[in-house]
Amino acid sequence: MKVKDIVQMTNGELVVGNEDLICSDFSRDTREIQKGDIYIGIKGERFDGSDFWKEALDNGAGAVIIQGKEITPEEKEAYADKTIVMVENTLQALHKIAEYKRSLYNIPVVAITGSVGKTSTKDIIANVVKMKYKTLKTEGNRNNNIGLPFTILGLKDHEAMVIEMGMNHLGEIDLLTRIAKPTLAVITNIGTSHIGNLGSRENILKAKLEILNGMEEPKIVINNDNDLLHNWYETNKSNIEIHTYGIQNRSEVMAKEINLKQESSTFIAEEKDEKTEITVPVGGEHFVYNALSAVKVGEILNIDSELIQQGISSFELTKKRMEIRKLENGATLINDSYNASYEAMKASIEYLAKYEANRRIAVLGDMFELGEYSIDLHTKVGEDIAQNNIDILMCTGELSKYIIEGAKKLNNKVNATMFKDKEEIYEKLKEEIKKDDVILVKASNGMKFFEICQKL
Ligand code: ADP
Repeated sequence: MKVKDIVQMTNGELVVGNEDLICSDFSRDTREIQKGDIYIGIKGERFDGSDFWKEALDNGAGAVIIQGKEITPEEKEAYADKTIVMVENTLQALHKIAEYKRSLYNIPVVAITGSVGKTSTKDIIANVVKMKYKTLKTEGNRNNNIGLPFTILGLKDHEAMVIEMGMNHLGEIDLLTRIAKPTLAVITNIGTSHIGNLGSRENILKAKLEILNGMEEPKIVINNDNDLLHNWYETNKSNIEIHTYGIQNRSEVMAKEINLKQESSTFIAEEKDEKTEITVPVGGEHFVYNALSAVKVGEILNIDSELIQQGISSFELTKKRMEIRKLENGATLINDSYNASYEAMKASIEYLAKYEANRRIAVLGDMFELGEYSIDLHTKVGEDIAQNNIDILMCTGELSKYIIEGAKKLNNKVNATMFKDKEEIYEKLKEEIKKDDVILVKASNGMKFFEICQKL
């Protein structure tokens, strides 16, 4: 891709520079610029990246793509050996450039979305795909309209790409999929994350299914135990290529003989007559589902079952999701403070319930973005605590009082306490926890419960 291609596709103006310059590496952060990078000045909430164009060039960028700046004759002269492209809107330009870059590659592109488990599933699937193909994947959870196009711009001699797509509103996945043009889509589940914006679970399903809009030949892998995905499958299987995985509902690939252990699980992935023994290096039934999706994707991409096994058993979790640590006094801390939706809370509580320990302690906080469903879903978390015989529940946060209420409603003897703030929880934990206790810490990321974990 040359500067002149970019100028053409973005309807931009070459203010100074070399239109034949080859653009291979892109950056949006002047602090991370490598020599020769093409800097794209994205307008964020607090800063406008275009303001930093000189800094970018001074730090080694070969070219900058910016918006809304007057470049003076003196500046043109001072940067005569560099390239400056002015566009109307840098975000839209980024999307155009990423779409073009994608069009240069005829490779499998697996796109993952869902209410929960996107990042975990993306990491497992990428680990399987890379066993056979040189694979580019979304780093961390850069799954929005900036992270996704920048991920695509990282394509070099890759033979496959595994990317994550996130959304808060209708229309967002539509935009991402038209840029990324997946050849295979995966939906992990339809839950209640962001239901505050979307209004109903049916709308969440609709928003996730937008992933099909960018696909030349729609081909999708779904969790068939999810009620809404299952219903959708039943009504659409005759006109779309849908592949299924599950534990309960009859699916193409199913997990049998599941053995959930504390920090890993084993199961047999069964498809027709073929049986593959799988080990997932993270505990919890939800990770059996995530692994199953990787088995199915691997098989669709013609990856041998041994390589699929290896890819799954060697995958590593992105940090801050279910980090398990031994504390000095011999207690175990499960730091799952990165985010929380109702489904993830439930999965983590069930995991805690099965953890071998003296006492099981849940430190829970608010789940955000649930709108009018907030009270209901926090109450349900409380009920899950009571049903799973968690020994101690500690909460703080505006909405968390409903967790306590929900727990007490089902079992008025439950040991559940509301705290003023995180500090108070930490002080209590410090005196309370004993050897062989296990403590789960979980809330929406904005609650900053990782601070409790750090202190512990
Ligand atoms: P996302 O990227 O969709 O936010 P993550 O993979 O980051 O999802 O996981 C978020 C939380 O959900 C973590 O607590 C994780 O343990 C839990 N989780 C992961 N996979 C699943 C799943 N399939 N079902 C329910 N919860 C899950």
